[in-house]
Amino acid sequence: MMSTPAHVNSWYAASTGLPPVLPTLTDSVQADVCVIGGGITGCSTALHLAQAGYQVVLLEGQRIGWGASGRSGGQMIFGYACEQANLTRLVGQQDSQQLWEMSLAAMDLTRHLIAQHQIECDLTAGMAHVAIKPRHDRALREWHEELSQHYQYEGLQFWEQTQLRSQLDSSRYLSGLYDPNSGHLHPLKYTLGLAQAAQAAGVRCFEASPVSKVQRGAKPVVVTENGAQVQCSTVVVAGNAYLRHILPEIEYRVMPVGTYIMATEPLGEARANALIRNRMAIADMNFVLDYYRLSADHRLLFGGLVSYSTVPPVNLNHALRKRMLAVFPQLQDVRTDYAWGGNVAITLNRAPHFGRVDSNIYFAHGFSGHGIALTGLAGQLMAEAITGTQERFDVMARIPHHAFLGGRWFRMPVLVLGNLYYRLRDLL
Ligand SMILES: Cc1cc2nc3c(=O)[nH]c(=O)nc-3n(C[C@H](O)[C@H](O)[C@H](O)COP(=O)(O)OP(=O)(O)OC[C@H]3O[C@@H](n4cnc5c(N)ncnc54)[C@H](O)[C@@H]3O)c2cc1C
Repeated sequence: MMSTPAHVNSWYAASTGLPPVLPTLTDSVQADVCVIGGGITGCSTALHLAQAGYQVVLLEGQRIGWGASGRSGGQMIFGYACEQANLTRLVGQQDSQQLWEMSLAAMDLTRHLIAQHQIECDLTAGMAHVAIKPRHDRALREWHEELSQHYQYEGLQFWEQTQLRSQLDSSRYLSGLYDPNSGHLHPLKYTLGLAQAAQAAGVRCFEASPVSKVQRGAKPVVVTENGAQVQCSTVVVAGNAYLRHILPEIEYRVMPVGTYIMATEPLGEARANALIRNRMAIADMNFVLDYYRLSADHRLLFGGLVSYSTVPPVNLNHALRKRMLAVFPQLQDVRTDYAWGGNVAITLNRAPHFGRVDSNIYFAHGFSGHGIALTGLAGQLMAEAITGTQERFDVMARIPHHAFLGGRWFRMPVLVLGNLYYRLRDLL
């Protein structure tokens, strides 16, 4: 029997009134839809399906929010992990325009779900991408022009160094692209809030119920490690970077990569506000980027680093602090209270990977570190498709994807070699 699963030791888990562990699935049950995975993707799918009158069972292998959704930087950002121009090259202008609009709809949906279900998750407006090098500065100016003129995205502001410094007390940056429409939230509270709303709408959620097999067919059977089963008409696969050996044909299109965050001790309101006056979220323009923001209790949550093996760096706390002090040397005296990591699922082109296997197994994964808003939308789109409206899901599903070269054992070294050039560029 599996021991009681627990969240990683993060500031998120420590600052959330965690609900009691939900039951493990132990027998055979029937449902219209079985959702595998209790992150934002799975919880949003289950919620939207239940609201449409479907009988839904959600199986989470650990705890709801245990994966990336409960560990994330929590930055809710427009667009995708790849540039919009790359999407246009992949799918053409018309779909690219729709994808752009869907990325904005994803942020609207996040705000709507939080308001509708009264989820207290510290939603805060404002986010800036910031330039460290002249080529970042040029890229931000071009991005500003592209989004404001070609996509008519209103509100986006290009900030020269002085204006950025008036909001962000770091001398590291040359300029910033500020978006008042993006923002940040407490991702574990948000995920648990969605799960609670799903349960209130009738979804049967089970924790500590890892799925070991999906028997495909007109009536799929989802089997858990302890032999319990869900007989259903449709399966939704929402395991993202944590999915293993359930659907190899989609798993090789993503690669799990570790990324890491630390939380300082509480700084006090005045000191926190002196660092980031408008309390926006920030991400720099490096390939291996730093991303950070303030928490509601006035800590700095500072994320960065990657591990292609998903093994955390030796002395994680020290490695993250070094990066934080490069941005804010004035925090030398500040203690680190928590440091943790989680896996993101990246695709080769950094666009999310949506689709169907057979006609009744739906999946959405590979948000490539850009999933806080898109995962909620993914759930809505999968629910729409299952209930008969395919259009928006199909726009996402038309993005072409290739499997990582090297198959199960060698995709990691191939990825590391492929990314080495960009990591070296960060140093120049
Ligand atoms: C440290 C970190 C920082 C991040 N920062 C940001 C950010 O600032 N902004 C942003 O937009 N994105 C960020 N991301 C990415 C974002 O958090 C993810 O894209 C998003 O949370 C993915 O949600 P999900 O529901 O698809 O997957 P997850 O939240 O990973 O959920 C998948 C769930 O499926 C379960 N599961 C897997 N296999 C099985 C199985 N066989 N049986 C049952 N259950 C199974 C897992 O236990 C897990 O709980 C970050 C991610 C990490 C790790």
